[in-house]
Formats: sequence, C-alpha cells, structure tokens
Amino acid sequence: MEIKKIGVLGAGAMGSGIAQVASQTGYEVILRDIEDSFVERGLKSINSFLSKSVEKGKMDAAQKDAIMGRIKGTTDMAAMKDADFVIEVVLENLDLKKKVFKELDEICAPDVILASNTSSMSITEIAASTKRPDKVCGMHFFNPVPLMKLVEVIRGYSSSDETIATVSGLAEKLGKVVVEVKKDSPGFIVNRIMLPHFLEAIKMVEEGVASIEDIDKAVKNGLNYPMGPFELMDLTGIDIAYAITEYFHNELNKELKWVAPNLFKSMIRANKLGKKTGGGWYK
Ligand code: NAD
Repeated sequence: MEIKKIGVLGAGAMGSGIAQVASQTGYEVILRDIEDSFVERGLKSINSFLSKSVEKGKMDAAQKDAIMGRIKGTTDMAAMKDADFVIEVVLENLDLKKKVFKELDEICAPDVILASNTSSMSITEIAASTKRPDKVCGMHFFNPVPLMKLVEVIRGYSSSDETIATVSGLAEKLGKVVVEVKKDSPGFIVNRIMLPHFLEAIKMVEEGVASIEDIDKAVKNGLNYPMGPFELMDLTGIDIAYAITEYFHNELNKELKWVAPNLFKSMIRANKLGKKTGGGWYK
C-alpha cells in the first residue's frame, strides 16, 4: 500500500518531532493526543522549531506554512481510520500501549502497518494485542527527532519481511539512517550499548577512580562522544536510566552486570533525578 497519510498517536516530545519530520517530507499527518491542550502544545513546539529554521534562512515562511498545513491535530481516535500507516508514541507504559494497539487494530484498515516508538518494551507483546501481529514492528526514533539521524527498526516475533521493508523504506524517505534489530530484545541496539557506559561510570565514581567531571571529560575527548555519561543522564533523567537498568536485569537473566550500583540507588532515593528535579550528578 502506498503511504500518503501518517497517523501519529501521542503529541509529546517524540510524537511532535515525528509529525514534523513526516510533514517536512511531504506526508499528510494526523497528530492525535488525549486532550486539546496536549495537541496544541505539540503543534506549538513544531511551529517554534520551524520558526527558528525560517530565522536561520533554512526555509521560507511559505514552506513553514505548508508543513504546518499538512499536520491535522485532533483528539478523535477515530480520525486514525484515514491513516495509511500509524506510529504509536504514547507514554512508556506497556498496558497503555497494548490498549491503544487494540483500539488501532479495530479502527485502521486491515492492511495498515502499526509501529511503536517504544524505547524498551517488547514489540512481540504489543503486537500480540492486535489481530495483525505480522503488520506490527518497532520504529525507534531518537530525541530530538528532527536532528537525530538514527531509526532502529525492530522485528517482533511475528513481524513480516514486508512490514520490516516498508517501515525501513519509510524511515529512509524521512531522511534517517536505518538499522534493523533482528530480534526483539531489551534496549534494542543503542540503549543496550549505552547502559553499560552509565553503570561503569557510576562504579568508577564509587570506587574513587576519577571524578564525575573527569569521566565526562575523558569520554568526550577520548571517545569523541558529544556528551559524557553523567551529563547525558542529567539531561535525559537519572530515573529513566535506573528504570532501564532494572528492566535489563529482569529481562536479561538477572546477570550481575545489570545490578544497579548503590550510588545509583541513592540518587533515586534522594530524588536527585537530573535537570527535571534541579539536582543530579553535577548538583
Ligand atoms: P511524552 O510524555 O512527551 O509524550 C507522550 C504523549 O502521549 C503525551 O502527550 C500524552 O498525553 C500522550 N498520550 C497518552 N495516552 C494517549 C493516547 N491514548 N492517545 C494519544 N496520546 C496519548 O513522552 P515522549 O518522550 O514523547 O515518549 C513517547 C514514547 O517515545 C515513549 O514510548 C518513549 O519511551 C519513547 N521514546 C522517548 C525518547 C525520549 O528521549 N523522550 C526517545 C526515544 C523513544
């Protein structure tokens, strides 16, 4: 099926970014959230990103208006019936994701592919809540979506080759670099690689090997990463990193390497979660 209209379920940080990139590529977009104020917040953030692009001379005002014009914000779930492809970008909660996939399965035409932007949950389990598990896969974008190049396309237990090829092709059309995750596995590729960096960095601070500042400095200048592990955790949320650690420990055979160091636990108990609480590794 030719994809012309893309449904985006969830107008938060990631959903609005995905809607923007899809519209910039020329697709019609239906952006759905549960409350008008959430839809408006999403549209506002797209508008403000595009206004900056106009200021920088990257596009003109008419192009910006055309991009905004292709995105229809709504709170009506039934609007998804017109979509040729839907990506789910709601909160990271498995029960919620299963519930919305069941609804989408009833609303959307039977040949429509349904993808999830989950950063950790099982695609296989999400797909099992539909009657079309072969037409469900993961499509994992990175934050901020308009700037980050990667998309991980994740194969659930039942995803068909056609589904994976269609979603990979779509991600490429959106200008992304695509990798295929052949098995539905916790953290997919990037988060599975990223977490050991976090855990090892925290263990080094606990052992007194080096300071937080010097570990970040070493990683940035020695590995050429744009941010060190502590800066990155402060930015994205220490609680998020902690939740991923617990999830990996449970899902990956309780291996000792995924046990959270005590210092990590203390940060959570002290509610020092990074920028969002105003106190983290640096403060
Ligand atoms: P967010 O909290 O900014 O947005 C989620 C939105 O979903 C909210 O606006 C909420 O109102 C909406 N929502 C809840 N129930 C809904 C429903 N039934 N229908 C439509 N909308 C509904 O969250 P986010 O950061 O955009 O993350 C969304 C998803 O993307 C999560 O699965 C997350 O793990 C994943 N993800 C996040 C990042 C990141 O860095 N933030 C990166 C990659 C993937």
